[in-house]
Amino acid sequence: MKQKTMLAAELSWTEFEEHMKGDDVIVIPVGMLEEHGPQNPLGTDTAIAGYCAAMIGERAGALSAPVFPYGYGPEGKKFPGQVSLSPQLLRKILYAYGVSYAKHGARRILFVNGHGGNAGILRMAAADLWASHGVLCAATEWWLLVPQFKPEWPCNDHGGLYETSCMLAIRPDLVDMENARDPVPDTILSENIRAGYTVTYRGEPFFAALDDFALGRAGNFGAPPQGANAKLGADVLEAYIDYNAGLIREMRKVDLKK
Ligand SMILES: [Zn+2]
Repeated sequence: MKQKTMLAAELSWTEFEEHMKGDDVIVIPVGMLEEHGPQNPLGTDTAIAGYCAAMIGERAGALSAPVFPYGYGPEGKKFPGQVSLSPQLLRKILYAYGVSYAKHGARRILFVNGHGGNAGILRMAAADLWASHGVLCAATEWWLLVPQFKPEWPCNDHGGLYETSCMLAIRPDLVDMENARDPVPDTILSENIRAGYTVTYRGEPFFAALDDFALGRAGNFGAPPQGANAKLGADVLEAYIDYNAGLIREMRKVDLKK
């Protein structure tokens, strides 16, 4: 007998139609294919985004779409296995993804983003969806959101302590901790500008479009991955999932007819 599911890809078109008559929310996860240090798989961001979206959908009673596994990432291009779309193409794809659902009843979309390079582009696609179809869009990132209400978890790494812990929580079979390496030191770009986990001026992060600036040979940077553990990853992701389930419940209260 067919099990009840909130995964859109596992519904028939009739089940999808029926669900959307009673709810107008879709959760869309977006990932990336790129290095995450020698201990993590290339699809780390995709795995985390897909997992979180499914859990958020389950908890909020909303459908979650299949994870889009590609993103934009200029900084890891020297590493084998990376696939990066151009910012323009990614914006168009995410917009098309949203439009497809909007045509069949979605009025509210939550993008669950697993990769930093996607963040600005996702917000542009969200603005496009609002402008053309009146879709209320939100986009969140676990590593930016969680430290806002859990300062004890700064989530300040790429393939380091926090991201590796998340992978140990959801796909321990894909993590080889024996390959975990120390992060490379920050690159000094000027007297006061350093590039590491982020680019900073006088210690404060700012956006800079730079290629291959700090990844070094191992590919992880920020908090060292050696202390990664599944408990930490599960706690971090739970905080993120819980916030987003609440966000969806609140988004449903917004009157979009006005
Ligand atoms: Zn990542």
